[in-house]
Amino acid sequence: MADVKEFINLLSESKVELERRLSAIERDVRNESNPVSPDSQEQSLERENDEVIDALGNSARLELGLINKALARIEAGEYFECEECGGPISEGRLRSVPYASLCMECAEEQEYLNRENSNVA
Ligand SMILES: [Zn+2]
Repeated sequence: MADVKEFINLLSESKVELERRLSAIERDVRNESNPVSPDSQEQSLERENDEVIDALGNSARLELGLINKALARIEAGEYFECEECGGPISEGRLRSVPYASLCMECAEEQEYLNRENSNVA
């Protein structure tokens, strides 16, 4: 079995980076929300900014969740197993996507299904 320490390091580094990004985003949100400008056009611009910041915050939070899950999978000894089919996840894949919980085949299938779903909607 491959050495998980390398991956724990990778995941921990991303985690620290994401937490730093999230607190920076939250700081920005607080600064943006005051003072309130009396101009309604500017207000709607500010709202748009907030939405962008929200989206950034959400994707960072999402990624943080995936990283925590990956760390839990390492602890459980399931890190190199695909969540879906139980097959092996290659080290190369985990090196480029350390929080991957699916093997390449299952990930591609899921991506395909997601695309199908978004086409319907
Ligand atoms: Zn799989």
